[in-house]
Amino acid sequence: MQADVVIIGAGPVGLACAIEIQRKGLSCITVDKGALVNSLTGYPTNMEFFSTPDLIEIGGHPLVSSRYKPIREEAIDYYRRVAEREELTLLLYERVLGLEGEQGALEVRTSKRTISCASVVLATGFFDQPNKLGIPGEDLPKVSHYFREAFTYTGRDVCIIGGKNSAAIAALQCHRRGARVTLVYRGPEISPKVKYWIRPDLVNRIEEGSITAHFNAHATAITKDEVQVRTTDGTVLIPNDVVLAMTGYHPDYSLFSTLGIDVDDDEAETPVFDASTHETNRPGVFIAGTVCGGRRTSRWFIENGRHHATLIAEALAERLPVCND
Ligand code: NAP
Repeated sequence: MQADVVIIGAGPVGLACAIEIQRKGLSCITVDKGALVNSLTGYPTNMEFFSTPDLIEIGGHPLVSSRYKPIREEAIDYYRRVAEREELTLLLYERVLGLEGEQGALEVRTSKRTISCASVVLATGFFDQPNKLGIPGEDLPKVSHYFREAFTYTGRDVCIIGGKNSAAIAALQCHRRGARVTLVYRGPEISPKVKYWIRPDLVNRIEEGSITAHFNAHATAITKDEVQVRTTDGTVLIPNDVVLAMTGYHPDYSLFSTLGIDVDDDEAETPVFDASTHETNRPGVFIAGTVCGGRRTSRWFIENGRHHATLIAEALAERLPVCND
């Protein structure tokens, strides 16, 4: 199998890259180890985007939403239909295992085949690599780094770790579905980065006592029935049935290394790339979307990451010979 460009990651940004690159007359194959827009499929079931529809559209295709901001299901179906309309070549449930060769003659090895190409674009996002707490008990079955929906937690003691948007949304939804929620956050207050229409709701629930919160608090161990938390007043034991560790996510650094992409030794572990073309230190290998920020996962998201597609497509169009397969 061969193409001018292989894109790794069939999320919104990967699909935007495929569309813009195809529009330059280059052939393109998009590979993903999971489903189409796999991350979106794992978002909370009733998730509403923070962005209005126009800000997450790709390829100029209008996203029609019944609401001011689209919900998860509308967005997933939108990206599916765009991929279909643009006749993108997708290889789903196929993991990239290696990359050999030089720019212009690269070979992408996947779990099912080898694909010859001239260039590669990495757009794998971050959602499947949770930030681990690194404490005893984190692997217990009651602990999850993903929140899907609150109904299963009715009547249960739920401990939520983290203090930004996912933690705030999970805390409010679990509380409103009849769970007893305790929030454990290492910061001094609910993060000011929580969206302005969510934060006051949570702060008020904490102030009225319907959600318990521990600030400047660090979970140090999780047992079958409790979470052990170090606070400024000493150790607190929080009885619970469920732990939602909403501690964020990070890009797949092993994939950077598989592809030969260097990482800065700054705190954010930012991958090395040229901001004008998004080409990395490995000639012919580009990056797009959230992965560009390394551990600073709020730097790039769909709204701004989708524009990387145009930069990359323009850079590729200038240099690539077109395959005649
Ligand atoms: P996040 O913004 O990375 O926040 C992670 C939280 O976990 C932070 O409060 C962080 O503390 C804490 N944390 C991280 N590592 C920790 C550790 N080892 N021990 C204790 N606490 C730790 O993650 P997120 O809230 O899941 O959001 C991820 C992205 O998704 C963001 O860009 C967000 O805006 C977006 N999002 C979008 C929607 C939507 O569109 N509807 C909903 C939710 C989230 P610090 O605050 O001290 O860093």
